[in-house]
Amino acid sequence: MSLTLEEIQNFKGKYPKQIWSLFFSEMWERFCFYGMRGMLVFFMISQLNFHEKEANLQYGATQAFVYAFTFIGGLFADKILGFRKSLFWGGLLMIVGSLILAADPHKFFFLGIAFTVVGTGFFKPNISSMVGQLYKPNDSRADAGFSLFYAGINLGALLGGYLCIAIGKGELLENSIPENMRWNIAFGLAAIVMVISLINFVFTQKSLGTIGLQPGHPLAEIKSAPMPKWKEYGVYVLSLIFVPIIMTMVAKTEYTDYFMWTIGPLTLIYLFYEMGKVTPSERKKLWAALVFILFSILFWGIYEQSGGSLSIFAAKNLNNDLLGLDPNGVNNSGGAFFIIFLAPLIGLLWIWMNSKKIEPNTLIKFGLGFIFLGAGYYVLFATRLFANAAGITSLNFFTLALLVITLGELCLSPIGLSIMTKLSTKNLQGMMMGMWFLASAYGQYVAGIIGANMATAKEGSTNYDALMTYTEGYKQLGLYAVIAGVVLILISPYVKKLMQDVK
Ligand code: GLN
Repeated sequence: MSLTLEEIQNFKGKYPKQIWSLFFSEMWERFCFYGMRGMLVFFMISQLNFHEKEANLQYGATQAFVYAFTFIGGLFADKILGFRKSLFWGGLLMIVGSLILAADPHKFFFLGIAFTVVGTGFFKPNISSMVGQLYKPNDSRADAGFSLFYAGINLGALLGGYLCIAIGKGELLENSIPENMRWNIAFGLAAIVMVISLINFVFTQKSLGTIGLQPGHPLAEIKSAPMPKWKEYGVYVLSLIFVPIIMTMVAKTEYTDYFMWTIGPLTLIYLFYEMGKVTPSERKKLWAALVFILFSILFWGIYEQSGGSLSIFAAKNLNNDLLGLDPNGVNNSGGAFFIIFLAPLIGLLWIWMNSKKIEPNTLIKFGLGFIFLGAGYYVLFATRLFANAAGITSLNFFTLALLVITLGELCLSPIGLSIMTKLSTKNLQGMMMGMWFLASAYGQYVAGIIGANMATAKEGSTNYDALMTYTEGYKQLGLYAVIAGVVLILISPYVKKLMQDVK
């Protein structure tokens, strides 16, 4: 007998048991995603002979499209496919993308990437929405669940981000894989883990009751007429048509700007259109969701320096006083490492605080997220105090900054997933989750612009001056983050009104 939604949501204890299955599917998906992401720039430069700047621009374009596609993936899930079929279709596309890359990464690079971009769009937002449905709208345990889920995300990110590129470069399994096959195997590994993710999901489905069923399914929670098959197949065909379009747009990065300027306003117009169809109380909640989404753009804009200016800073201005570790390795994976341990603990902290009636609400958590982010950037600024005349400073201190920034991420990112599911109406869950991730795409975009400005400011200077320029920039960013946090806390009474019964 399959479970009813009521039975699933009335679980005892801290976590619903289904969360573990979703945790593993998402973990493997993130392994595949971050594994590929970690290889992109290096592969383009060392294997495809791209210039550094070109490779970075194309990397940025890929990131923007990946997260922009989550909106489309979420929208089609709400309207036609349902979360389960979307996730499955997205996963299949990701497998195809990775297999194409495994077959001949040199020849089919952009084709494989384009498949992965579209696939991620269908997979990523919808699995998070399903986590949300394991909870009743006002279950105070949801933030802890999303924090646990977030640990899974980062476990996958850490493993994939480390293993794939290490195999590609020949740092790992050097003697067992012939040199000319290393990149094929590395991309192939991404395909294998994605297969594991989907197999795991197939088994998970049985325990999900009615969660994620296609609209029009006889058992679906919202009753509607059966979905005509042509619509479903239409979505599959349409997503395949997107593949060559994405390929062209990633290859010519000037299109990214046009795309970014267009997609945001279009999604907003569409959201306003949908807002016209809901009750006033639901509309208020959607406005509140939009406030969180807009703030998150600023958060990710500052946070995402890690892939840009901070990686240059790590390469040029840091020593290895932390256990002799490589500063770039620490910059790339330190955050994920901290999250794996801290996310479940912070989740339990929320549960404990709730039992004492002192749990901060979402607005305060977001505000704290910004304040930690700002504090972390002030610590980055302070690395200049330990610099020698050659402009080299302490990796230990840098790692402390990462830790503080990570605390900020944990107050905002999993909580953002959770609040999207609480504030969206049932029929817009996927789309709102997609909008949340679309904000990340803008964040990445903004981050690239900030990073590029800092890079221009330091051009032609000595390493010491570069350190000064970067750290000055980080101080500025720290200030913006703190201001955003304070503003958020100040406007919280108004947003709270919009949120009504949602905490
Ligand atoms: N690192 C998280 C993930 O991969 C958050 C990404 C984001 O929202 N930018 O899911």
